[in-house]
Amino acid sequence: MEGRARPRVVYIGGAGRSGSTLTERLLGQLPGVCTVGEVVYMCQRGIVEGNRCGCGEPFRRCAFWHDVLAAAFGGWDKVNVARVAELKAAVDRTRFIPWLLAPAVRPAFRRALDEYMSYNTKLYDAIAVVSGCGVVVDSSKNASFAFCLRACAGLELRVIHIVRDSRAVAYSWTRKVRRPEAMVPSYLPTNAPARTAWNWSYQNGALELLARIGTPTLRVRYEDLVAAPEVTLARIAAFSGLAVGDHELGFVGSDGKSRWADLGVAHTASGNPMRFATGRIPIRIDDEWRTAMSAAQRATVTAVTLPLLMHYGYLTRRPSA
Ligand SMILES: [Zn+2]
Repeated sequence: MEGRARPRVVYIGGAGRSGSTLTERLLGQLPGVCTVGEVVYMCQRGIVEGNRCGCGEPFRRCAFWHDVLAAAFGGWDKVNVARVAELKAAVDRTRFIPWLLAPAVRPAFRRALDEYMSYNTKLYDAIAVVSGCGVVVDSSKNASFAFCLRACAGLELRVIHIVRDSRAVAYSWTRKVRRPEAMVPSYLPTNAPARTAWNWSYQNGALELLARIGTPTLRVRYEDLVAAPEVTLARIAAFSGLAVGDHELGFVGSDGKSRWADLGVAHTASGNPMRFATGRIPIRIDDEWRTAMSAAQRATVTAVTLPLLMHYGYLTRRPSA
């Protein structure tokens, strides 16, 4: 792949359960875009655990990933999964973000980061080649991985920072949701509201910092995406360097009050259950938290996340329904 342009990676970052999967699925319908889910978990959940790809096939039997991993590493069985896990643990953590800002200060850290990103760059390169797409969308979400990408010269990075009301996010983390990709029945993790609130603040705060130090970033409110998907998608497409018109956005529509999108298949390595959805899906705001969340939990989450909740306009104007 010598001499090729650097792959353009559009990274969807944000706190978990903020709408990153919906954003990715909608973006994936645009021509020239290849969406691959949460790439940071591909090794563990795809290769090691053998979970399903977004296309429905067990990961190791998916033809798309077969071709990608053959192009990048000579086959999925040639990926040194233990080494990738070791490197991820050594550099890709929220608490390492200060080091990721100046990796040269610690030579051993810089070497591990370079090796980790060499693996990821090969992967993105192969995804771009196999898909024939100019834009690769990774919805790994974690701010720490966005900082890893920023420190890598081998790719062109643009970040879509997706934010959602912290109370809705905290409520979502209390619900029990089945993981459809697992070969053995299991559920998505749940989390206590106070813990989710702290995590929401860290992740969003770190992504604010990333933008402030010059990484091209577009902040998108999940509530705005749901209220006006065509308008918001057009903004995201322009930011991603994609030329799209009304024709390309024709997969999104509405009849009366309800909005919908027509989705095709996506070869997503990991992510929330929505990555398996195909055909017509409804696009609607999920605001059950407003009636179902206890007053005490709501007060705790509001207090912990107050500065950014205000910054994002969640306390001064009610998100559109
Ligand atoms: Zn697949």
